[in-house]
Amino acid sequence: MNVLVVNCGSSSLKYQLINSETEKVLAKGLCERIGIDGRLVYQKSGLDKEISELDMPTHKQAIQFVLDALVNDKTGAIKELSEIDAVGHRVVHGGEKFSSSTLLTPEVLKAIEECNDLAPLHNPANLIGINACKELMPNTPMVGVFDTAFHQTMPEKAYLYGLPYKYYEKYKVRRYGFHGTSHSFVSKRTAEFLGLDINNSKIIVAHLGNGASVSAVLNGKSVDTSMGLTPLEGLVMGTRSGDIDPAIMEFIAKKENLSIEGVMNVLNKDSGIHGISGKSSDFRDIRAGAAEGDKRCQAAMDVFSYKVAKYIGSYVAAMNGVDAIAFTAGIGENVGKLRKSIMSYFDYLGVKMNDEVNLATMAEEALISTEDSKVKVCVIPTNEELAICRETVALVK
Ligand code: ADP
Repeated sequence: MNVLVVNCGSSSLKYQLINSETEKVLAKGLCERIGIDGRLVYQKSGLDKEISELDMPTHKQAIQFVLDALVNDKTGAIKELSEIDAVGHRVVHGGEKFSSSTLLTPEVLKAIEECNDLAPLHNPANLIGINACKELMPNTPMVGVFDTAFHQTMPEKAYLYGLPYKYYEKYKVRRYGFHGTSHSFVSKRTAEFLGLDINNSKIIVAHLGNGASVSAVLNGKSVDTSMGLTPLEGLVMGTRSGDIDPAIMEFIAKKENLSIEGVMNVLNKDSGIHGISGKSSDFRDIRAGAAEGDKRCQAAMDVFSYKVAKYIGSYVAAMNGVDAIAFTAGIGENVGKLRKSIMSYFDYLGVKMNDEVNLATMAEEALISTEDSKVKVCVIPTNEELAICRETVALVK
């Protein structure tokens, strides 16, 4: 079965065509600057990337270009569109309505729309992508895979905030968590990789990318995670502050004469390692800056890793122990020095790192603790597109 995986943002759209039997990517790419001018990046497996400037006033037009590229005589990955058996869409927020992936029926689309309030930047864009695909491929089954779904197993004590209960009742203000597709994929793979029985396991996943979150996965189910109502809570991220004293918002608003929107903009776009370093949100720049002796880059790295360590420590408590800790995503998969610094807080748990393997491991599965370490530590590359493909196949078959 060939599955087209679509991740649609407000002005961009990432896609992969995956053969579900071989799990090989047949073609992938993205559309950028939709509604502005338009650029299509297309790459058939084994060939070079093609970049074309194309007029993309709408998402429908962008998807049409993707479909044209996929069936192109010379570099297409398939002969005709009927070879796309299903489309899997990433949907950011499923609220409390969706605890698993689902076929996108008109009722489901309405329910997703009702979650728009909770993710005003993401869900409307996801819906635009879904509707555009439906128009262009009306007979192809479509599946929605939610970033929040995996965390719907969290107990009430983990998802309720210390706020008036009426806000939960009236507006569903609670912790939802994100990156669920990645936390689910990586925790399952960690159990397989280490030969653990997932139904009798305590795994902590540190998804450290530009957006970053940690989750506690007990017996295969998410029991806590660091992101909250929105992806702003939790770790210090590329440009997001993560947890702060909420009173800082009023304090900064008054001092800087900012509106709520202005403060939110600072917390989402000007904070995190970008804000602390004053240099960049890209971890590679921060690492290079720290290596050259830039104190604020060093501070950004230290704050980042300390916060990850504190979350991991709190999830050891939440699960009353831990069997394995898995690092994933751009930073988690590639920066051995950072993994070492995070794990240095866990000598007390009996963690023994294999420094040589840890420092040499980049973007590949590896056990980076010693074989006899009481808690196993590993790198497990995430693959959200493959996870969406698998979920889609499971529902369409
Ligand atoms: P997202 O999907 O949230 O945009 P990614 O998982 O792609 O994020 O991670 C992006 C982050 O990973 C960036 O901060 C980038 O600098 C960092 N990163 C990616 N590759 C490397 C690498 N080889 N070395 C250091 N940092 C890396």
